[in-house]
Amino acid sequence: MRFRSLALSVTAALALVAQAAPGSAVPSPTALADKAVGGAESPAAPAAPEAPDCKPVKAAVEHRTDNSASCLALDVKLDRLPKLGAQADLVVEVSTSADKADVDLDLQLPATLKWVEAPHGLEAKTKPSKRPVDRGGIRSAEGRQEVTGAEPLRLTGRIEAVGTGPVEIRATANTPSGAHSATDNNYFTVGKESSKPGIAVDKANEVAPTASPATRANLAWKHRPVAAGGAAEGPGKGEACVTGTWNYVEHTGYTRVGANAEVRVYDEDADGDELLASGVTGELGDYRLCFANKDDEGTGQDVKVRFATENPQWVIRSKTTKAAYEFTTATKKGLKNGATADFGDVQPAAAELMRGVQAFDTINSAWDFQAKGECWDTEDGTCRRAVVNWEPDSTSCCWYDLQEDAAYISAATPDLPVVVLHEFGHGLMDDVYENAFPNSPNCSPHSLHRASSPGCAWTEGWPTYYAATVLEDPTFRWETGATLDLENATWGTSFPGRVWEDGDTVEGRIAGSLIDLVDASRHEKDDTCSEDPMGPLWDTFVHHVSGTFEEFWQHRTADGHDVGTSALTCLYYNTVDYR
Ligand SMILES: [Zn+2]
Repeated sequence: MRFRSLALSVTAALALVAQAAPGSAVPSPTALADKAVGGAESPAAPAAPEAPDCKPVKAAVEHRTDNSASCLALDVKLDRLPKLGAQADLVVEVSTSADKADVDLDLQLPATLKWVEAPHGLEAKTKPSKRPVDRGGIRSAEGRQEVTGAEPLRLTGRIEAVGTGPVEIRATANTPSGAHSATDNNYFTVGKESSKPGIAVDKANEVAPTASPATRANLAWKHRPVAAGGAAEGPGKGEACVTGTWNYVEHTGYTRVGANAEVRVYDEDADGDELLASGVTGELGDYRLCFANKDDEGTGQDVKVRFATENPQWVIRSKTTKAAYEFTTATKKGLKNGATADFGDVQPAAAELMRGVQAFDTINSAWDFQAKGECWDTEDGTCRRAVVNWEPDSTSCCWYDLQEDAAYISAATPDLPVVVLHEFGHGLMDDVYENAFPNSPNCSPHSLHRASSPGCAWTEGWPTYYAATVLEDPTFRWETGATLDLENATWGTSFPGRVWEDGDTVEGRIAGSLIDLVDASRHEKDDTCSEDPMGPLWDTFVHHVSGTFEEFWQHRTADGHDVGTSALTCLYYNTVDYR
């Protein structure tokens, strides 16, 4: 499997690292400490080596994160943080636990940095990029290097800051087969007088006009309002209204509508803002809120509109402040009775906060997908709100904390909706199982195509199935650009550097089995199954706590759902033999 391993970044000495494979994990030693209860956070036994000639680098096995085993580690550092017009040395260190490995390095600077001199042996290139954080383009340095296990390979290049504002330096290292990889991102903010570590967001709480027509990101599912109240009639007598739409720009550069986002109208007063009306945005990010327009001076109220990455069912929040991200319009003064103030089509003003809004919208597609019940756990009477912690400069990816009941993703994770939904899926399982998260040993690191344990494979395979189904895309994706087809793997499937293991201790086999049970496509020889994902599979999921896939299948049998030849054949295609 390919994945990145971790490395300390210049700005994140305390961060754990980031990996992107499926898995849940614990971020901090504290979180790890008491996890006797939950499998998701138990200290894991060392995994089997990814390849005969190496074992996972130590950093990748210290905590239970969604990391894949990798023989590579990557560290990118700057000798100083350059202010505008100044230069700095960028030092890349690649190490491997193998005797020797060819490594493809790719270092990417945003348009506000440039190479004065690319690291020796790497070729500098300029490329377009539509990712908002890249500010119009990237300047990469790429090339293949040989690394030995004897000592780390160290390369030094020189960069210059040619623009102000936040920067994300992305670095990836891959073996040519893609079987092993590592990533490291660095974040700092370039100023005219000095630069600071981390992302200092300018205009963090402001909005800007949306420049392009916006569309829904996931068209597979019908919009499902999470709450009422964003589409008022009016204005009535003595009332005024506000209207407009909420949007964001995703990593592809497309502008998307922000549906089901909290929207509030405030009257701006010297002694504090008064909440006039609230609701959530509609299918197209649209809202219309009306309120009594009483005012003391006969001049009408001074109103502004605030959008947030939260609603009653989920929140994308800062892990430090525990607050959702909020974005407020300029104030329109002196609203007249009977008037409707149009705030227009707006989006976050800050490019580096787009990803937080995108992650919110990715979870919205899961809400749309479920299409029934009042809560994520359709058996609950009192809903549990899903929590995802995200920061614009976090390098720690990804895990679900069973104590906090919250997922953690890195700054760049929202570029990978499948990973966001995988982590969210851990939380959904924990919600549905009422915190009785199954024991899942031998799970850190864990890899889609490799055997772990029955509990690890089930608790990792189910969220990956869920993510693939919500996205209608049976492809797992990593930050390095690597992908893995989950659906078409069968007996004997292998890719360079990655041989699929068989049976129900392999999370990718469980994900593939579940995907084949629900997908409508039948291009595979033995895949004749296509049941409603919110039908039998969901019914059994919410009515039992299954510790393994085999137990889940027993529960499915007890529930009277189809476990006949055709269903068993769909599992068998994925090397799970319950015949
Ligand atoms: Zn996971």
